Amino acid sequence: MLNEFKSQKDKELIADWDALSRIFIRPENKATRATLVKYMEQILFGLHSFLNKNVGITQEISLKKLSEQFTDTHLNKHPEKKLKDVISCLIENIAPHAVNVASPYFIGHMTSAIPFFMVHLKTIVSALNQNVVKLETSKVVSVIEKQVLAKIHRLIYSNTDMFYQDHVQNTVSSLGVFTEGGTTANLSALWVARNQLLKPIPGFEGVEIDGIAKAYAAHGLDECFILVSKRGHYSLRKAAGVLGIGNKHVIPIDVNLKHQIELTHLMNTINEIKRNPRKAIIAVIGIAGTTETGSVDPLRQIGEICHQHHIYFHVDAAWGGPTLMSEKYRHLLDGISLADSVTIDCHKQFYMPMSCGMVYFKDPYFMNAIEYHSNYVNRMGSVDLGIKSLAGSREAHSLILDCAIKIMGTKGYALLIDYGIELAKKFAQEIEKRKHFRLITSPELNILTYQVCPESLQLALLNTTVEEKKQINATINELNRSVQRIQRESGKSFVSRTVLTAHRFQDGFVDDVVVLRCVLMNPMTTITIINDILNEQEAIFHQLQHERTDPCTLVKEN
Ligand SMILES: *Cc1c(COP(=O)(O)O)cnc(C)c1O
Repeated sequence: MLNEFKSQKDKELIADWDALSRIFIRPENKATRATLVKYMEQILFGLHSFLNKNVGITQEISLKKLSEQFTDTHLNKHPEKKLKDVISCLIENIAPHAVNVASPYFIGHMTSAIPFFMVHLKTIVSALNQNVVKLETSKVVSVIEKQVLAKIHRLIYSNTDMFYQDHVQNTVSSLGVFTEGGTTANLSALWVARNQLLKPIPGFEGVEIDGIAKAYAAHGLDECFILVSKRGHYSLRKAAGVLGIGNKHVIPIDVNLKHQIELTHLMNTINEIKRNPRKAIIAVIGIAGTTETGSVDPLRQIGEICHQHHIYFHVDAAWGGPTLMSEKYRHLLDGISLADSVTIDCHKQFYMPMSCGMVYFKDPYFMNAIEYHSNYVNRMGSVDLGIKSLAGSREAHSLILDCAIKIMGTKGYALLIDYGIELAKKFAQEIEKRKHFRLITSPELNILTYQVCPESLQLALLNTTVEEKKQINATINELNRSVQRIQRESGKSFVSRTVLTAHRFQDGFVDDVVVLRCVLMNPMTTITIINDILNEQEAIFHQLQHERTDPCTLVKEN
């Protein structure tokens, strides 16, 4: 039983001032200090050794069984457990049922192992408990935040030394802001873009003040649009919803065979919208590492199109941004410096703990469009970082990033980035060697998608009617759903699954395909491990075939 570990000998715990002073006030005597250090050791090393186990994504127990153990909806009035018991419970009973995202066999998502030192840095940041909403609760930390923002801004935009001297500690301008993640980073960028388009004009104070209805009326508009490829992250649709633009106005632009935005479709869409004076474009978004396939849009060309049409250009580099640190692969993001704003997640390829993102602005005064003041904090002319930030109170994540870069160096990050991209390439070669597998998207960064696709069906697909192709495709989709589920449930390895619309067949047949998706970011994942994972999938496939009694199944082995 997970939640039943209260030991018999514990005498009844009571909430009183005596107990409070023991847990709230700094430990003064040596004995309590030693106890706390011992707990910390348990946390840091106990959890670390759990997370470093090479196998076992999570313990085998059904969600149903688990949830049955957590149905107590009453708050306890008196303490139930002492700190040491809570910690033991977390380490021994809870952690094994959490997901071991640090396992090198866990290659399905953008959440993975983090360097050990991150836990220490996070602990220090928690202990300092600074609130970077205002200088009065953070002081030097706010100043460090501005410095690290300038460092990453330089990585993206490579402006002059003079530019960075002017802006690094400038209290009027802002190079970017830390956010909870990519979602709020994208939202912040589109917030700025919206306010720029629906700006104040005589008789209208701007959308931020007057609201969306007046904004459309004042600017003579019926609809505003955001353009992004079909591979755009769903956070962009959320942003359009929150900003009052309406998420149906996020127009999905077609992609090419490499899942990059189709430039002709983009241009045609822009021209079509511009033909109608009652329609306008808030932003065009380029993606530097799509969440599903890791594809990078042609950023330079999109940037040039936006420049030509005076459209705000945002780059969602939540995933791929840190590739800029790799001398070998940074060319993949060529043109990113044309972007008006750029999203980068820290909890992805900066390998920081959950959750932290950032957004950067080319023009250090763009964020003035989302400036807020109040009487007790964020007063006019102060350095308070909360003035231009969607969040109110927030943690000093910038301190973790600043320290992490000091520890790793951009070279250290580059080694991780290069390893992932090259491992993904080897992975793709491995898939191509196997007759029952089929590569769907070859990796541009460190993400790839593929299918378990029996040779017999691959052959059957070549020469047949469209109707039959659809049917065979449905069978393959079902097979991949099963393989992914069975592998996940057996708890040794994890790859994820998504649906792509793919042109898979030479004759132009297009259909939705269920694909297995892998993200290679854990430096402990090796090609041997990848082969283990593929072997397991192949074994599951053979097992399924063996068990199949369904007469309409097309999965036949010779
Ligand atoms: C992960 C991701 C996001 C969303 O970021 P969160 O940190 O999950 O909010 C947005 N865009 C892309 C391309 C991403 O990969």
